[in-house]
Amino acid sequence: NDAGEPIIIPEKCIGCVKCVKICPASALEMFFTPEELKILEQLATVAAPAEEEVDEEAAALAKKLAAYRGVWVFVEQTEGEPAKVSWELLGAGARLAASLGVELCALVIGEKVEHLCTEAFAHGAAKVYLLDAPVYRNYRTEAYLEACCHLIATYKPEIILMGASGMGRDLAGAVATRVGTGLTADCTGLDIDDKRNLMQTRPAFGGNIMATIMCDKFRPQMATVRPNVMSMPERKEGATGTIVRVDFVVPEESILTKVMEIIRDATSKSHVDITGADFIVSGGRGMMAPENFTILQELAEELGGVVGASRSAVDAGWMPGDRQVGQTGKTVRPKIYIACGISGAIQHLVGMQDSDMVIAINRDRQAPIFEVATYGIVGDLFQVVPAITKRIRELKQ
Ligand code: FAD
Repeated sequence: NDAGEPIIIPEKCIGCVKCVKICPASALEMFFTPEELKILEQLATVAAPAEEEVDEEAAALAKKLAAYRGVWVFVEQTEGEPAKVSWELLGAGARLAASLGVELCALVIGEKVEHLCTEAFAHGAAKVYLLDAPVYRNYRTEAYLEACCHLIATYKPEIILMGASGMGRDLAGAVATRVGTGLTADCTGLDIDDKRNLMQTRPAFGGNIMATIMCDKFRPQMATVRPNVMSMPERKEGATGTIVRVDFVVPEESILTKVMEIIRDATSKSHVDITGADFIVSGGRGMMAPENFTILQELAEELGGVVGASRSAVDAGWMPGDRQVGQTGKTVRPKIYIACGISGAIQHLVGMQDSDMVIAINRDRQAPIFEVATYGIVGDLFQVVPAITKRIRELKQ
């Protein structure tokens, strides 16, 4: 009204009582005339489904979901070389399969890739679905998509895990769309709830919260996980299992994409894969300038490691993007991670906090990086880092 007080306009009120619930002073009440009450009662009986209907719906859903059993891991390979993340996923898949009391299966697609079945058994798979044909030689979305959809329709797995690599992200999205199910990308945690649903945990809202996502009405439940997020299972030499050879070949003429030639990246020689390094010395905004990374390089060389970076250092153009550690960079698990001039934002921490040992060097005693550090050094990195390098050199002599 004119005095600025909220008023209720009777013609516009639909009687939803939301205002009553949220009034901070509990100053609102809603009254209905006997006629209005009669209408509301009628509406309630029409809107609410009969109890038997609800039961029938729930039973139909339970039956649909129960038709799907087993945990599958897609084994990613390039020219017969497996991606390490596939074995990490078999480790995670084994825990899920044990909770569900089902088989852990691997999915091997390619040409001349039978050796990967042995590797899959060694990493925990009990069964491997093998599609081995020339049409699967190089990864192409269409061929692999058709193959996966055929296997899903035939064998009905309840969970499918793929690496959050270029290939895995491409294939998982295509498969989930085709089979009409949910997909959670970049999971950092996987578990099973009391209704056999997969609890898929991943950072959300810029990494500020961890969200647990469920796909409780559709199967299979699909998730991708980045390399190094799950720990590598112990290799069981000589482990065996069942190979199911699936004779499903996508006709070459139905595939629009043709691989004419594979040209290796000329820069790949200088490319450094920080995800596989045992020792990483990372620099952040505290490095102040690109040339200062030399002191990190020197320390890394003494340790036999590599140099990593925070996003601030990458955004400033001081380090290439493939060195970035964190939520939008790489996830690393080295034996020792040395963070120099890095504050420890959550988006950085999610990429390195599982390192065996974290050493943080920062002049700000309150920096959050110290919360995950095994050893913290409060000081100026331009003094501390060269001093550590010098000491290592002395010890080596
Ligand atoms: P700052 O936070 O500025 O910290 C610099 C630190 O250096 C300070 O703690 C300071 O005390 C210290 N320092 C300065 N001078 C010295 C000195 N001489 N000696 C010792 N210490 C010194 N960040 C990532 O790293 N990786 C990601 O993947 C990533 N993804 C992101 C995704 C999203 C969606 C968003 C919103 C952000 C993301 N970020 C990521 C950015 C992240 O939020 C931080 O902004 C970033 O990590 C900060 O980088 P920094 O620690 O180098 O810089």
